[in-house]
Amino acid sequence: MVVRPARLNPPMQSVRLLDPENGLDGVIAIHSTAIGPGAGGCRFWHYPDLESAFDDACRLAEGMSYKNALAGLPFGGAKAVLRRPEGAFDRTALFRAFGRAVEALDGLYVTAEDVGTTVADMRDVSSATRHVAGLDSSDDQAGGDPSPWTALGVFEAMRAAARLTLGAELSDLTVAVQGTGNVGASLCRRLADAGARLIIADIDPRRRNALSAVLDAHIVDVEDIASVEADIFAPCALGGALTVQSVTAMQARLVCGAANNQLASPEVADLLLERGIAYAPDYVVNAGGIISVSAEYLGEDRASVAARVDQIGPRAGEILDLARREGHSPAWVADEMAERIITAASRQAA
Ligand code: NAD
Repeated sequence: MVVRPARLNPPMQSVRLLDPENGLDGVIAIHSTAIGPGAGGCRFWHYPDLESAFDDACRLAEGMSYKNALAGLPFGGAKAVLRRPEGAFDRTALFRAFGRAVEALDGLYVTAEDVGTTVADMRDVSSATRHVAGLDSSDDQAGGDPSPWTALGVFEAMRAAARLTLGAELSDLTVAVQGTGNVGASLCRRLADAGARLIIADIDPRRRNALSAVLDAHIVDVEDIASVEADIFAPCALGGALTVQSVTAMQARLVCGAANNQLASPEVADLLLERGIAYAPDYVVNAGGIISVSAEYLGEDRASVAARVDQIGPRAGEILDLARREGHSPAWVADEMAERIITAASRQAA
């Protein structure tokens, strides 16, 4: 039985977003501002009801607190979740309305892209607020689509984790990638360049087929990707890929991917441990995007982004190594490290 400390539980602040005229319907959740303003992307997705959007926003905002703390960023954790309207809608009007809502928070929340949003959307947001990043970048300045930085961080973490836990180089391994969107596709290209064999799945046939055509990746059904014969499983779609069922059936010995909130429940971390499957914690390995976003917001250059993303591989390795030596789940070790940082900041602020 693994004893897990309760996660930090500051009162979650939330702002309801409702502007029917412009199609805006969602929530901004702010989990912690102990270290700095809450920073986290804006998700634009189909949610059946407000409650499911709210739950997702809260879970994602909490994850951002941990991610930002462990990445050494001067930000707390927050997230916006917008319900994608069914039927036709004016996308520009919707994201401008969202920008006005972000502006009303006066810097308490900084937004950027997430699943379902684009650089063009953030440009619309920026017409109403300066508390947004993930816009176009110029010269050596940080900015632009954060996805390539996220993919680079995941790739470096995967390489470090594969050496440590599988004793192998990526060129000798098969990686099963779930989701070939912005991050998944970029990760696949890096993996192919490194000589890894690829198995991919995506609910969107255009995305998986386009990638398979250029990378010689083997396509499988979305139901099978987590249990195919592979060395590494890389969840790069939505959250909750690691369930009791999927982990029980998993053949891979290492999980390392970009998706947020991969563990469907905390117990799954214990099951991974029991089954001897190494787990590189999601928010540790996918921090490249928020590193880019925060550098852009703070007016830093690309070199500082590269330097911070460079630390993701060693950090993932350090966590996996500590977890192995102490017999804990890597998820637990990462949470503890992040909580120490957030608690120290809270004490200093008090
Ligand atoms: P995206 O929307 O571009 O790609 C997601 C892909 O997953 C899409 O192609 C979609 O069709 C596919 N998909 C959805 N459900 C699926 C399923 N059940 N099985 C297989 N494929 C499925 O999003 P993205 O920007 O690539 O982000 C991917 C994940 O990484 C998300 O969980 C996101 O929160 C996380 N993340 C992204 C960034 C970033 O910089 N974009 C940063 C940190 C974390």
